[in-house]
Amino acid sequence: MIKFLDLKAINASFEPDLSNSITRVLESGRYTLGTECEKFEQEYANFIGSKYCIGVANGLDALRLIFKAYLELGVMQEGDEVIVPANTFIASVLAITENRLVPVFVEPNISTYNIDSGLIESKITNKTKAILLVHLYGLNSMDEQIRQLAQGYGLKLVEDNAQAIGCKFQEMRTGSLGHAAGHSFYPGKNLGAFGDAGAITTSDELLSKVLRSLANYGSSEKYINEYKGLNSRLDELQAAVLRVKLRRLDADNERRVLIARYYSKNINNKFVVLPKSTEEISGHEFHHVYHLFVIRSQFRSKLRDYLSTNGIETLIHYPVPIHRQVAYIEFADLNLPITELIHNEVLSLPISPIITDYEISYVVDVVNSFTPC
Ligand SMILES: *Cc1c(COP(=O)(O)O)cnc(C)c1O
Repeated sequence: MIKFLDLKAINASFEPDLSNSITRVLESGRYTLGTECEKFEQEYANFIGSKYCIGVANGLDALRLIFKAYLELGVMQEGDEVIVPANTFIASVLAITENRLVPVFVEPNISTYNIDSGLIESKITNKTKAILLVHLYGLNSMDEQIRQLAQGYGLKLVEDNAQAIGCKFQEMRTGSLGHAAGHSFYPGKNLGAFGDAGAITTSDELLSKVLRSLANYGSSEKYINEYKGLNSRLDELQAAVLRVKLRRLDADNERRVLIARYYSKNINNKFVVLPKSTEEISGHEFHHVYHLFVIRSQFRSKLRDYLSTNGIETLIHYPVPIHRQVAYIEFADLNLPITELIHNEVLSLPISPIITDYEISYVVDVVNSFTPC
């Protein structure tokens, strides 16, 4: 049986360092707002290439706090619009609507599954205040056109870097490309904690101060509250675990790239569409850290059953688009055919830094032997 993601085996590969870190935190007697979090924030800011990092409770909080901070600063007002890809995980959109801002959906490019930068400008109105760029599946979605649009229209560029930690655009890391970025360390992400955890990076000093206060009850001095904040902190245990795992992240991502190349080179089945390799996507400098290896098939459900029968676990990212969710009934009338096609056809194959050569060659053989009839 090939698991989609074997978290136990991934974390075992970091021993004994993880256990040592956990013991260190246990014995320190300090479990929140201590030195592990401080050190992780410095190390992570360095890694991303941002001036500031604020550890928070999860990736959704990271994103919603960024918009909340912009509201507190008067940069945005309730009812303002935020451009967001229609093909994303629901957290990207929750972070917008939670703050009474309005998401404006843009269709993805069918080659990248990320936002189609050519479609953004026509969606900009005098209420547009930001673009929320999502580097979905681990593929950078930043390009020169987006940079120029953000600059030209004076928009905030916010990145949802949950799936692309370690990814690059030119010589910079995603998460340092815009004004602020949200990161998720959910256990299954490329940099995964032992529970929920997240971070915000920014190089804007004022924004970083508001964010740190908002995440800690709206307080920067104990029992003195400047904002109606929330409690969203990165605890010491998670920070200690993340410090260990961050050191191996680039190597782990390189292994993911090798596996993706192997899949792309060897999967050959006319009923399966492979992700375009970064060399094939013309005009862009796309780096991919393959959080997910996403194929498409018009026969997805049969293919998924066939893989499952042969002991290969797969997942769908994601089965229902946001504008088709009951929670977002107000967007049910939107016409987003590319987003819908993607949701109907995508299937994620197993990929992780510890999956073996034998396992990936077995996955290739099974995918290649699939026929829908
Ligand atoms: C995982 C994820 C999030 C949310 O992160 P959590 O830590 O689960 O709250 C946000 N955006 C995207 C694209 C994600 O994949």
